[in-house]
Amino acid sequence: MFSFKDPGLPSQNPTRSVWLDENPLKSFKSSPSLPPFSDIVIIGSGFSGTSIAYHLLAHPKTKLNHNVPSVTMLEAREACGGATGRNGGHIIPDNHRGFLLDSQVYPGRAMEAAAVRVFEQIGMNEIVQLVKSQNINCELRTAGNVEVYTDQKEYEEALKSLEEAKKWGITNQHIFTKEDMQKELGTTEYVGAIKIPSGQTYPARIIWHLIKKSIENGLKFYTYTPVVNIRHATPQEIASVSSSLQKNHQQLWCVESQSGEKIITRDVIHATNAYASHLLPHFRSKVFPVRAQVISTAASNTPKLWPFGLSLREGLEYALRRDYPNGRMIYGGFRTASESLEVDNSNDAEVNPKLSKALRESLESKVFMNMGLKEQTYYDVREWTGIMGFSDDDAPYVGPLYNSNGEEVDGQWVLFGLSAHGMPRCFRCGREVARRVSEKYLSQQDIDSRKITEPSTFDASRLLSMADFDSDPKYKINPSTWASIGSNNIDEWDYPLPKSFIITPQRMSTTNTVGWDQRTIYPVLTPKL
Ligand SMILES: Cc1cc2nc3c(=O)[nH]c(=O)nc-3n(C[C@H](O)[C@H](O)[C@H](O)COP(=O)(O)OP(=O)(O)OC[C@H]3O[C@@H](n4cnc5c(N)ncnc54)[C@H](O)[C@@H]3O)c2cc1C
Repeated sequence: MFSFKDPGLPSQNPTRSVWLDENPLKSFKSSPSLPPFSDIVIIGSGFSGTSIAYHLLAHPKTKLNHNVPSVTMLEAREACGGATGRNGGHIIPDNHRGFLLDSQVYPGRAMEAAAVRVFEQIGMNEIVQLVKSQNINCELRTAGNVEVYTDQKEYEEALKSLEEAKKWGITNQHIFTKEDMQKELGTTEYVGAIKIPSGQTYPARIIWHLIKKSIENGLKFYTYTPVVNIRHATPQEIASVSSSLQKNHQQLWCVESQSGEKIITRDVIHATNAYASHLLPHFRSKVFPVRAQVISTAASNTPKLWPFGLSLREGLEYALRRDYPNGRMIYGGFRTASESLEVDNSNDAEVNPKLSKALRESLESKVFMNMGLKEQTYYDVREWTGIMGFSDDDAPYVGPLYNSNGEEVDGQWVLFGLSAHGMPRCFRCGREVARRVSEKYLSQQDIDSRKITEPSTFDASRLLSMADFDSDPKYKINPSTWASIGSNNIDEWDYPLPKSFIITPQRMSTTNTVGWDQRTIYPVLTPKL
């Protein structure tokens, strides 16, 4: 077993990300004190928690029109003050990257590796659609992400992954020629580069927009309200809220906040990502904190504006340039400059000087120089850290909570462990949690009527057309294999989650360590086996 310490509560004096300079909901509270009862309490106001609230209350297709439950969201910090408000701004659906590793490390996992990629591509497409349809001002660009390679062996491995991914229907990669590199990157010094579909955005603005929409539709939202404990409500507490209950409940939960206030509730949803195991200690080692660091510089000249995002070292480093007039570079990575790889570190109140040095040196390196970012652009430098919630097997935990004996806990749900990849995952995962929870509040007739609004069968072509890797895909995912993915039958109402995301008793009973030594994202130096 790996053993990790308690991540604690989110620190109350975090480093300041540029994305949080403005925050229309900074210290929002729906009322001076918490409501005594709420049908559903969501903990965490990042992309995950917000997606759940939005899908329950405000999404035109999924919101409940009858028996609408009362929903409250509690956030330890300012609105969207966790990883989502501090991240690199990339929505990069995994494409070829890591495909060989994913499909080889786990026997027979190629299909699942493909399913995750399709899911993420759909996730990104849906965010683009959302932003366009609701006119969200969030600097969204969709010109792709360019992965550059400095090492010939690494590049050849990437090309092998790319060929393998194509066989499974994952397409639309563009291999840069020397001429492309000169034209797009201003350099031919890299051994190779590959562009894949992806987007860049100002993430917090999407979240604030969705929270506002949810508030308009009934959400009660409380910032600076850390949850410190969840326990069974006592009979007296249940009696005290009986007027709010539509029927008698034997069991309700009591959510306690740090200030001593409490809410009695039917359903608790943990959307606490890196901090999940503070409230759920049996998740330590399954979901653990990993600190990431970002530097941002303002533009003092008019350097070339990249329309795309940039990744180095298979995504360990990531950069984007914000639109003018801002023009800020947002550049993150270099956890490898730290011996611990920043694993098991939940302190985002400070930056690591070793990472600061590595990030600054890299900003002066050839790729950024060639893009016109010269030393004099070290102007208004901002640096911050944020805490990612990695899971033991790279997949988020989505669904009902299980206890340490592998038994389902009635009335608690989870969505955490997004593993550095939340942007293309959270929105759709949040929808799935919202769907499952909401069924408790619907009549069977309502549940059935929702199902028939969508086709009840899923095939490869539908999924691929939703994923839209390529307008004219040359490769198709084998429909019979997709059928087997669908056969877990968790969702006839919409397409299913990738199997690996679903929380199961089996997943709870083991901690995955397969492939850790091959993954630079994992603590190869520190595991205590
Ligand atoms: C520096 C950095 C760069 C990143 N770059 C990218 C990127 O470019 N692309 C990408 O896809 N992903 C990136 N990620 C990862 C991505 O940000 C996350 O996967 C995603 O934001 C997770 O969303 P979430 O809502 O699950 O978690 P969070 O956004 O962390 O939300 C969890 C919330 O729960 C709150 N909370 C926790 N415990 C409690 C409690 N006890 N009581 C009340 N509230 C609590 C926290 O304060 C937090 O606001 C990056 C992460 C970091 C830190």
